[in-house]
Parts: sequence; C-alpha cells; structure tokens
Amino acid sequence: MTERRRLRVTGTVQGVGFRPFVYRTAVELGLVGSVANDSEGVVVEAEGGPEQLDELCRRLRDDAPPLARVESVEAAALPALGLAEGFRIVDSRAAGAPAVAVSVDVASCPDCLAELGDPADRRFEYPFVNCTNCGPRYTIITAIPYDRGSTTMSGFTMCTACRSEYEDPADRRFHAEPNACPACGPHLRLLDPTGAVLAERGDALDAAGEQLRAGRVLAVKGLGGYHLAVDATSVAGVAELRRRKARDDKPFAVMVADLDTARSLCRLSPAAEEALSSPRRPIVLAPRRHGAGVSEAVAPGLPELGLMLPYTPLHDLLLARVARPLVMTSGNLSDEPIAHQDTDALVRLGPMVDAMLTHDRDIHIRCDDSVARALPGGRVQVLRRSRGYSPEPLALPLPARRQLLAVGAELKSTVAVAKGASVVASHHIGDLEHLPAYRSFVQAIDHLCHIAGVHPELVVHDLHPEYLSTKFALDLDLPDVAVQHHHAHIASCLAEHAHAGPVLGVAFDGLGMGADGTLWGGEFLVADLAGFRRVGHLRPVPLPGGNRAIREPWRMGLAWSRLALGAAEAERYGAAVDERWAAVMALMDRPETPSTTSAGRLFDAVAALLGLRSRVTYEAQAAIELEACAAGVPLDAVAGYPLATATSGDLLVLDPGPLVARVVAERDAGTPVPLVSAGFHAGLGRATAAAAAELARAEGLDTVALSGGVFQNARLTEIVVAHLRGEGMRALVHERVPPNDGGISIGQAAIAAAHR
Ligand code: ZN
Ligand code: ZN
Ligand code: FE
Repeated sequence: MTERRRLRVTGTVQGVGFRPFVYRTAVELGLVGSVANDSEGVVVEAEGGPEQLDELCRRLRDDAPPLARVESVEAAALPALGLAEGFRIVDSRAAGAPAVAVSVDVASCPDCLAELGDPADRRFEYPFVNCTNCGPRYTIITAIPYDRGSTTMSGFTMCTACRSEYEDPADRRFHAEPNACPACGPHLRLLDPTGAVLAERGDALDAAGEQLRAGRVLAVKGLGGYHLAVDATSVAGVAELRRRKARDDKPFAVMVADLDTARSLCRLSPAAEEALSSPRRPIVLAPRRHGAGVSEAVAPGLPELGLMLPYTPLHDLLLARVARPLVMTSGNLSDEPIAHQDTDALVRLGPMVDAMLTHDRDIHIRCDDSVARALPGGRVQVLRRSRGYSPEPLALPLPARRQLLAVGAELKSTVAVAKGASVVASHHIGDLEHLPAYRSFVQAIDHLCHIAGVHPELVVHDLHPEYLSTKFALDLDLPDVAVQHHHAHIASCLAEHAHAGPVLGVAFDGLGMGADGTLWGGEFLVADLAGFRRVGHLRPVPLPGGNRAIREPWRMGLAWSRLALGAAEAERYGAAVDERWAAVMALMDRPETPSTTSAGRLFDAVAALLGLRSRVTYEAQAAIELEACAAGVPLDAVAGYPLATATSGDLLVLDPGPLVARVVAERDAGTPVPLVSAGFHAGLGRATAAAAAELARAEGLDTVALSGGVFQNARLTEIVVAHLRGEGMRALVHERVPPNDGGISIGQAAIAAAHR
C-alpha cells in the first residue's frame, strides 16, 4: 500500500544542510517525491509505504543535521500519485521565498578539520575550509534569502570542483554558500602596520606564527572581527599588549589548541568542557590552575581564566604553528567596538600592532566572542550572548501580536526583534555612550530587521530618558512602549524559562531608572509579563557624584559608612582614602544628589571599605574582585553577617547597614579579607532569600526569579538559591540569557509581546 504525505518542517532548517539530509534519508528509505524551502521552513512531499513515511518523520525530528533546530514536523495526507518520479531537491530561489532564520556562525566541523590536516586533500591547510555543517553565516550574510549572492563570498566564483560539490545533493557541500578552495576562494595576507604586504598564503601563516613566537603583537582577522593576539606565556608580550590597547586590568581571553591544553590551565567541569568544545565556541570562564603556564597579567588578581578553543580553520592552523596559548582579545582600543572592516582595522589597529594577519573574505556585520561562565553544580551561564548564539531565536512565553523592535538599555547593549512566538536578539553591541558603538547599534537594528524579516510596528525602550537607545526609539515614527529596567530584567529571566509569571522577582544590578524617578538597583518586584508592583527594596543611600560614584567605589564606601556608622567613622575612612572626601561628604546632603537602592553599588562600597579597590578601570571590577577574593573560602565556612528589615509604607526595606558595620568591625579586628568577603556574601544572600520568600508567600507565589548584573556573582547566586530552596521556593536563574543588561532587549520584547 502506497501513501503520499506533505511534511512541513519549521525551525532553523535553512542554510544548515537540511534539504540534502532529507534527500539522503528519503532515498535510503526508498521514498519518492521532493523537498523545498519556503517562507516558513522546509516542505517535503514523500510517497511510499506508511512505515517508511513514519520513519522519515521520526528521522526529520531526531536525526537532523547538527546545525538544524527542528521546532515542528506536521504531516498531512495527499492522494498518492504512483509516479516513477524519484526524489528531487527543488531550488529554493525558484520558490522565491525568504529564509525564516539565519543560522549562527559555527566552528569548524570534524570533517572539515580532517581535510585541513590531510596532505592529500585539495584543501590541505586551507584556512577557509567549510561545509553545510560549519563555517560563517550571520557575519557574512548581506541580505536574504541566504544564498551565495547575498553573502560576502559573492565576489568569488567557484571553480569546477567546488561548483560540482555545491550542486550535488549527496555532497556535504551541497549549497554550502561560503564553499571555497585554494583555487577559487579567499587567501591570507600578512601586512605591516602601514598596510604593505609582507607575505601571502602559507608564507603569511608561517611568518605570523614566527612573529607570535617572538612575543610580537598581531592583529588577526577572525569570524566576527579582528583579534589582537600575543603569546599568552610571554610576560613582556602581554604587558606590551595592555599598554598599546590602553587596558589596565580587564582580563584577556586565551585561545588554546585543544581541550587537553585547556585542562592544563583551568579546572573544567564536564559542563565547562562541553561548552568550550561546542560548535558555538564561547569564551568560558573557569577556575585557573595556580602556576599554570600563562602570564599572570592575562587576568590580574583573578581566580578564573577565560579560555576558548579555535573556531575557524585559520585559528587551528595558527595555534599549531605557535604551539602556545595565545591571548585573543577584541581588536579595539579600550571600549570601542571591535574592528571588522579591513580599512578601518588598518587605521585603528595598525598603530597598536607589529603586523596584521588578514584576508579577503569580508565580514559584513561585527560579532564579538560570546562569554559563558562555568558555575559550581555543573551549570554554565551565558554572560555575553553574541557569536555562535545570535541570531538564534528564542521562544516568547506569549506570542507578539505585532512585529516589534526592542532597543535594550545603554551598557552591554543588544537589540531584539520579535514576530509571532519568537524573539531574535542581536550580537553584543557595547556601551552606547561611545559614538562608534551608537553607530554600530543603528546598523545592528537595520541588519537584524532585515535578516529576520521583521517590519517593526512597535518599538520598546527603557524608562530612562537619557539613554541613547531611548532617544533613538522616540525618534522613530512608531507607537512606543516604555519598560522599567528591572521589570525587563525579570522578564528576560521569565522568557528564558518560558514562564509567563507571576513570580517574585529579585532584580539586583547597577543602576536603572525606577518608576518613581529615583535610581533603583536592589528591587523586589511582584511581576508577570504584563506588569509589576514593587514590594520591597534595599535601603537607599546617596550616590555622590553620579557617574563618578560608579568609577570611584570609595565614594560609595563613604556613603555607606556614614549611613551605617555615622559621620565620625566616615570621616576617618574618607581622610585615609582620598583628599576630596570632605567635598564628597558635603555633596551627599545636597538636594540634587540622587539616592539609590543599588545592590551593585553596595558591593562597590564593601570592596572599597575592605581596601580592595577604590577606583575601577572597567565596569563591575570592584564587585568582581570582592567575589574573587573569597574564592578559596567554602560557602559554609563563615556565618553570614546580619542585615535589618524595616517597612516603608507597604514596602519591605532590607537594610544592609548592620552588614556594612560588621564588615568594618571585622576589618579593624584584622579578620582576613577573604573571610570578611565570605561573611558579606553569606549575610546578603541569606537575607535576600528570606525577604524574597516572605514577600512571595504574602502574595501566594512559590517561584522567585533572580536577575540583574549582580547575579553574575556565582557565590551570591548559589547562597540565595540554596536558601530559597530551604524555604520551599522554586528559583529561576539565568543560563542562556545574560543576567546583565545584555538581556534587557529580550525582556523588553517579552513584555511588549504580552501587551494586549
Ligand atoms: Zn565542515
Ligand atoms: Zn574551488
Ligand atoms: Fe541592569
């Protein structure tokens, strides 16, 4: 008995080798019919025995190619035709339909790496080898539908051998749009800092390897932009890179050749190893092995190191030549966006480097490396969701009725677009206060709308009127929705867990504009996607000097010590730390000085009072170092220091005053700083969990969502989660969406989608 069925497959199924997979599977099962792309995904018409058709359905779901993400397979019966038609792949361009989802950029697959290392292969040591299972996607696409003509490979004409692979449905390179070989594709060049060619092709690679081995600083063109590279074992080389890049303390990422080398540098959990070697290839932060062979200056004073494995064939070849770990940090000067265009790279990076290893395959859109952190308990948390993750869609808890654009916040900017049940967030854009990043923001919006096929009917922005993203949104001729910053944080956590709320949300972060016009950052909210109500917060404290209070944690130390211990103790601290202390103290009493409930600023204050850091050179540095110094102390080694609770109207106020007083007392008594830090974390974590549980119960809720940049702190998160569980609460924490402001655009989109 013969049947014919139409199978509709949705998800990320275009540009990932799905049609050849269907072809091979159908032929193997003895089915006839066709497969084609259309605007909603892939459509299969297949005819044959019912068991074979059932098996085809199963394999479409379960055995899809590595890059495909199948959301649904729906089958409908058709009349059997009984034709001897064979099985064929229908050209998508004939169907004239746009792709639904562009794949992420993917690290080299094992098949391509085998060819790269095989002297008999025509792509032996060819730095641009790729196939439908791997290679560049998001960073080279200029328009949809995704085919070669709409990528930066359009200027390269495939040779006969490449063309026949590209056209053969049974070949691994069938419709691999960036397909190339040494005869027809891009090539390497090594340039001096003025742009003069020093060497080409294999010679360029050899010469670059020699320079790196000699401790020189090189710019290396990667997938989403240029890296600055230096031998990570060279103390002088790493110091020189810091000087040239004007980067004082912020840690550098290190690329190593393989997992064994990674294990020799860091202690890796199975989850960390899995993340490190996944095709997304993020930078993974993991505990560093003491005395392991990279310069201390790579991550000064930190117990963790950011590692990544090679993700392009060029990286593999280079690492093999150098045979040492390489610092691979964003190709930029301090906070600028990463350089990705060749002429711009030459202008901006030329003065910083001894040579540039580049090539002639253009990068259309910049895309920084993603960053994930290995946490205790085998979890991995994404801190920066960029290359390898963007533009993969996430599901919205409630579908959007109108197509929308969410413009995010200001720092760690990302933007997102939503249509129907999915939201697509951009790569990491950076801090919008810098003009080049703002330009990159505008370009990212354009690109994202284009490749996701979204025509925004609504724009969503932060409540803060001074964010450049807010101003941009209000200048668009579209209806707009303003979303409170911490509501967006909690919504981003809900979106990740496909939870529509309500929950008790704890949003601890730096600063965000509150619904009452003050600066929030230590909030307890009853929230769902439709709205929120503030039910508690940390005790407010003056923020003396606005942005300067962020850059100079000693100002928060002064503010908190006065609040907790009185003017005399604050004076004693101020006089010891900075000659401007009296002026800053006076500033605290001025009516124009804002106050804040920020948890991030509380960490700054404690780090400053402990003498760890009074001025920062990168965001959250003081808080990161406060957590880092307690790394060797077991969680239960120190009883938590106390906090007080009070009420203000209907709101619960959690007061860290007694906690700060105890920190100062322990410091003065000579208690080792790591133990004081542990006592601070334990006290704040326990009190936060207790307050959240009490507030949740009062509302009849059993779930608490933790979000905001402060929950990048693994120690605090672990303590809060453990105590919430002890209180019988379910805790939602971030893994796939960043807890910091990089997740805000996703939260905004989830909230606006829920607007009815
Ligand atoms: Zn491949
Ligand atoms: Zn070729
Ligand atoms: Fe925030």
